Order: sequence, then C-alpha cells, then structure tokens
Amino acid sequence: MDKVIIFSAPSGAGKSTIVNHILSLHPELEFSISATSRAPRGTEKDGVEYYFFTADQFRQMIAEDKFIEHEEVYAGSFYGTLKSEIDRIWAKGHAIVFDIDVKGGVNLKRIFGEKALSILIKAPSMEVLRQRLEGRGTDSREAIERRLAKAESEMEFADGKFDYVLVNDSLDAAFAEAEKIVGDFLSR
Ligand code: 5GP
Repeated sequence: MDKVIIFSAPSGAGKSTIVNHILSLHPELEFSISATSRAPRGTEKDGVEYYFFTADQFRQMIAEDKFIEHEEVYAGSFYGTLKSEIDRIWAKGHAIVFDIDVKGGVNLKRIFGEKALSILIKAPSMEVLRQRLEGRGTDSREAIERRLAKAESEMEFADGKFDYVLVNDSLDAAFAEAEKIVGDFLSR
C-alpha cells in the first residue's frame, strides 16, 4: 500500500492524541519517525518518537540530501522526514502516518498528491490552545509564547491547503471524525 496520511497542527491542538488513536485502530498504518535536532522531552526515546541528532549532524544530512522535507520549525530546532524512513515503512507494505508541522504537511501533500490524505487539526480557539500548552507542563513560558505565535501564522498559511480540517473540540467527536475520514481514505 503506497498511501500516506498527513496530520498537521500547531502543537497543543491534540494532534498526537488523535494520531495515536488512529494508529491503534489500524495495524496497516505506521508512524513516520522524524529526525530532529531538539533535545528529547520527558520519556522520549531515540528511534521511538524521533531520531535525535545534533544541529551539526542534521545540517550534514541536509547537505547529503537525506530528507524528503525538512524545516527549522523553531529557531535552532530542525525537524525533517528522512527518505529512508519512507522506504522503511513502504517496504513493509504499510501506509505512512506523518505528524508534521503545517508547512511540512503542505509540502508532503504536494509531493504525494493523490496518494496522500492531509488533515489539519485545529484547537477550537487560541485561548484553548494556550490552556492546553500550559496544562501540558513541558514547555517554558517563552516556549509557549513562541508556539502560540507560530500557531497563529500557521493557521493563516494553512487556509485552504488541506484535504480536511478537523476542529478538536471534544476528543470523542474528533476521534470519530478522524476514524471516518481515515477509514474512507484507506478503503478507496
Ligand atoms: P515537537 O517539538 O512538539 O515534538 O514538534 C514540534 C513541531 O514539529 C510539531 O508541529 C511537529 O508536528 C513538527 N514536526 C515533527 N516532525 C516533523 C518533520 O519531520 N518535519 C516537519 N516539517 N515538522 C515536523
């Protein structure tokens, strides 16, 4: 199966929760582990949530053309999808699930075209987004302000560029909607 499903959102929109829910329902789907130069957070492990690299290693891999897409998502923090990761997952006959920032999502949709389903997950409001980021307790105050500012510009940029927009208001409703959209796409 050479399909891909792209989930994009500002962090705090509940994207990981929805992505993990969808992955738990579909054994034929596999998460694309991105490379990043940011430090591991909490219980994150190399090769599980991300492949962790230094900024220098990351730049080297850019120079070697190892990425299908990459972004400096926050100043000094690089994130990217390795071409080898796509080969790894497709070689198993699995469809790929991406958790990626909005720009990256738009780029991947452009690359994969009809093979791709792109879903933008939105928090119901900026206020709710702020509460979620604060409640998560993993980011400093400055990091939260940076994420909020980025979220606003991402929402403007994203307008009209995704196949679906999913507003994550109640989690149950968001799960149900995501299940339906993904189920329809996979059976197509
Ligand atoms: P976090 O640091 O919270 O894990 O991720 C920050 C942002 O980077 C999130 O929006 C996440 O989706 C995005 N991201 C993760 N992996 C990639 C990637 O490979 N490419 C791009 N462009 N963004 C990514």
